[in-house]
Amino acid sequence: MPKNTPPSHLAGTSLQTRLLHAGQAPEPAVGGRPVNPPLVRASTVLFDSVAAQREARGRRGSERLFTYGARGTPTTFALEDVVSELEGGYRTRLFPTGLAAVGMTLLAYLRPGDHVLMSDAVYEPVRHLASSFLAPYGIDCSFFRADGQDAARHVRPSTRMVYAECPGSLVYEMCDLPQLAALAHAQGAWMVADNTWGSGCQYRPLALGADISIMAATKYLSGHSDVMMGTVCTTQAAWQTLADRSDAFGMTVSPDDAWLVLRGMRTLSARLQMHERHALHLAHWLQARPEVATVFCPALPSHPGHALWQRDCTGTNGLLSFELQPGMAPQAAEQLIDRLALFGIGASWGGYESLAALADMSKARSLDDWQGRGAVVRLHVGLEDPVDLQNDLAQALASLAPIGTPF
Ligand SMILES: *Cc1c(COP(=O)(O)O)cnc(C)c1O
Repeated sequence: MPKNTPPSHLAGTSLQTRLLHAGQAPEPAVGGRPVNPPLVRASTVLFDSVAAQREARGRRGSERLFTYGARGTPTTFALEDVVSELEGGYRTRLFPTGLAAVGMTLLAYLRPGDHVLMSDAVYEPVRHLASSFLAPYGIDCSFFRADGQDAARHVRPSTRMVYAECPGSLVYEMCDLPQLAALAHAQGAWMVADNTWGSGCQYRPLALGADISIMAATKYLSGHSDVMMGTVCTTQAAWQTLADRSDAFGMTVSPDDAWLVLRGMRTLSARLQMHERHALHLAHWLQARPEVATVFCPALPSHPGHALWQRDCTGTNGLLSFELQPGMAPQAAEQLIDRLALFGIGASWGGYESLAALADMSKARSLDDWQGRGAVVRLHVGLEDPVDLQNDLAQALASLAPIGTPF
């Protein structure tokens, strides 16, 4: 199993089809085979002879072989194949969380003295990782604006990585990934993208010029709010560095978790289409509400990144944020979230259920000025009936004090 080679009957089929047929049970068993690969748990893997073990160990650095539990099992290999298919990359590694996948990527490709140029729209714990770990480790990190317009000005001779998150966390700014990738490559730097928002169905960074694409499988790939995992898929040129480093660090995932993510991914494209439909329903409804100043969703023509979204994305997902009128009482957003009955209050997103969270934009961006703006609420719109969700939002909004009421 050196790399992901889709079976020949899948040649020319669409991504939606390959997502279902990639990584199915590989071995014909007596009397037929199940649809899904078996769940294989292992630490020790046995060989017929010392010579066979030596031979396998000699080849496993560059080939995918079942030699030890930490190096993966047939279950995790099947998931790697489906992710590689989804991302359109050479091979994939799995990590215990999305954040671990980001951390390993930074460690794998950067050395003390290097500079990484990061989007100001990154997932906040990545910003924390950059300041708390990379800086003391001698790796300089600076930020470019979420729309990427000023990125060229920040490139240094020591820049070894450009790291984008597109659309950006919380308010979904779009940047021109092909342009950023050209900038990175002209400098001999790697182009890395956090693709958790797009999850391979709505956005495909490797096809747009990135060398490395990271996803928090915790979100849409798993889709059921019951498992944590991260994935990193790379081009052939970027592969060996990641493979060597993650082997050196003993990075691995539980095959049970891999099996859950694999199961979740079979319905990824169906779920995303439904999340998109429901989110757009609420987005349009929220735009007409007097309490709402701005609705953030790149699929809306009013969004500053809409043209890039139209060019580079094939759809949107269940994420949607909105800004309350700046004149509203400071506690209004918190009250609104507390009064919602169908939206859970909790971290993460990408499960089947709806969630609401406060977004502190002044903490989440260092280059954009959010002073004087209204409070921002981030919704993850789930698979519930969107009319029920709309009614829930309507009752919560109606319970707020009218705009301009002194408090
Ligand atoms: C959630 C998230 C992560 C981290 O994933 P975990 O599995 O929670 O560690 C990384 N990037 C983005 C954009 C995310 O939304």
